Amino acid sequence: MARPRHNFVVRGTERLTDHLIRVRLGGPGFATFQPNDFTDAYVKLVFPRPDGEVVRTYTVRSVDPRTEEIAIDFVYHGDEGVAGPWAAAARPGDPIELMGPGGAYAPRPDVDWHLLAGDEAALPAIAAACAALPADAVGRVFVEVASAADEIAVEHPAGVELTWVHRGDRDPGEALAAAVRAEPWREGRVHVFIHGEAQAVMHDLRRYIRRERDVPADLASISGYWRRGRTEEGFRDWKRALADREQADATVR
Ligand SMILES: Cc1cc2nc3c(=O)[nH]c(=O)nc-3n(C[C@H](O)[C@H](O)[C@H](O)COP(=O)(O)OP(=O)(O)OC[C@H]3O[C@@H](n4cnc5c(N)ncnc54)[C@H](O)[C@@H]3O)c2cc1C
Repeated sequence: MARPRHNFVVRGTERLTDHLIRVRLGGPGFATFQPNDFTDAYVKLVFPRPDGEVVRTYTVRSVDPRTEEIAIDFVYHGDEGVAGPWAAAARPGDPIELMGPGGAYAPRPDVDWHLLAGDEAALPAIAAACAALPADAVGRVFVEVASAADEIAVEHPAGVELTWVHRGDRDPGEALAAAVRAEPWREGRVHVFIHGEAQAVMHDLRRYIRRERDVPADLASISGYWRRGRTEEGFRDWKRALADREQADATVR
């Protein structure tokens, strides 16, 4: 059965940085949209194209029942792609259909500390998680951005230390992985949330957290949000191939 679609309308946009655009959506879709309690709540935006529709996945940064709007923060990664350029050109009144929300993570209250890491694409989910942490929460947060000009205000408890990691000329995720690995590991049960460029996250940080630090699967939300050099369709194929390879490895072992 086709998933229900919510018919939203652009209410306004705001350039948070040169590479991050907040789009506020309201209209009839707000009444049919059912928010969930996950801090990584995401929706599938549907873009009509000459050769059919394409779907792109985005985090719901916030839901405001007062204004009846949801906000989505789009990474503007240049003229390539569908969703990034759409956000850059969006004007009040533009229609947009979306499906969802889905979601999988919210910071657990029964752990000793939190570790969150990601790049610009994961920043909306990381910022939503930091805002949801209780005032006495303890943790470390790493966010990789291109440069200091891409840092934004992120509300977080006093016991949570946030570090901005500047990518500079390095490949996406490289500086982030190095920063997370260099951080002294803390005692106690940790809840981990790491998302971003898939190669860095899936091949480096996931191995580090799950195998080297022995964090159990139910306390580790780790996956790629996008893949360098691939559109979202190409990225889905990459993920399927990776899952097949891992399944085959597990069978052989
Ligand atoms: C659960 C989930 C939540 C997500 N939440 C967000 C979010 O809140 N905000 C957000 O911006 N993204 C988010 N993403 C990532 C987003 O879905 C992808 O970045 C998507 O590919 C963007 O679509 P596009 O049409 O702009 O580019 P595409 O057409 O998919 O890709 C075109 C080209 O741009 C490159 N590209 C795509 N994304 C990036 C990027 N972030 N930086 C640099 N180059 C890129 C691709 O590698 C490709 O070469 C999320 C992904 C998932 C799975």
